[in-house]
Amino acid sequence: MIKLEGITKSFGDLQVLKGIDLEISKGEVVSIVGPSGAGKTTLLQIMGTLDKPDAGTINMNGQEINRMKDRDLAVFRNKHIGFVFQFHQLLPEFTALENVMIPAFIAGTSTKEATKRAKEILNFMGLTERSSHKPNELSGGEKQRVAVARALINNPSVILADEPSGSLDTHNKDELHQLFFDLRDKFEQTFVIVTHDEGLAKITDRTIHMIDGQII
Ligand code: ADP
Repeated sequence: MIKLEGITKSFGDLQVLKGIDLEISKGEVVSIVGPSGAGKTTLLQIMGTLDKPDAGTINMNGQEINRMKDRDLAVFRNKHIGFVFQFHQLLPEFTALENVMIPAFIAGTSTKEATKRAKEILNFMGLTERSSHKPNELSGGEKQRVAVARALINNPSVILADEPSGSLDTHNKDELHQLFFDLRDKFEQTFVIVTHDEGLAKITDRTIHMIDGQII
């Protein structure tokens, strides 16, 4: 589903990625671990087309995405890649349901269809009762689950998550991690997760260790 070959990236004199080759299959839950500064976030951003490599190729679903024009890339990204960050990044003026629907609107889905799908996902996550609440009326764990629901709405090829449970307590952390596996089991959803959480890394299908811009 995702194939990276020879990815390099420098910021000024600092080479942050030194030739990354990586393949990820549909339905895999993969964790990326390593010390701070190893290049994990940069790799995730490049995989998510939020940043461009200096060299190398990125294939997703058979399409070479680093050759796409910026406008096509934005459409591709919204449709095929879901993002979850450490802090939920929900829009405060919208309800949970509306937040989940936003990427569907951007993709041109009808209101009726987007509402139906958002309700289904929130229901799957046990958040139906919370769907008309705004982010400041939700707990930290609920906000992160709504952020995962938003990442899922367009049925993406992959969800890229950067420290998704980094701001959660143990109980909410465990619940969020379980949700990733439930989504994989139900929808064959693929996840690539940058994490410092050893408990999560232990239970993912594969753990990629990065040090100093390389996969070891
Ligand atoms: P990790 O996620 O493993 O902690 P990052 O990918 O965030 O590592 O960062 C790797 C290195 O690249 C760090 O030294 C960081 O300071 C540097 N870096 C990341 N993004 C930028 C940027 N936009 N400009 C300059 N340096 C950056």
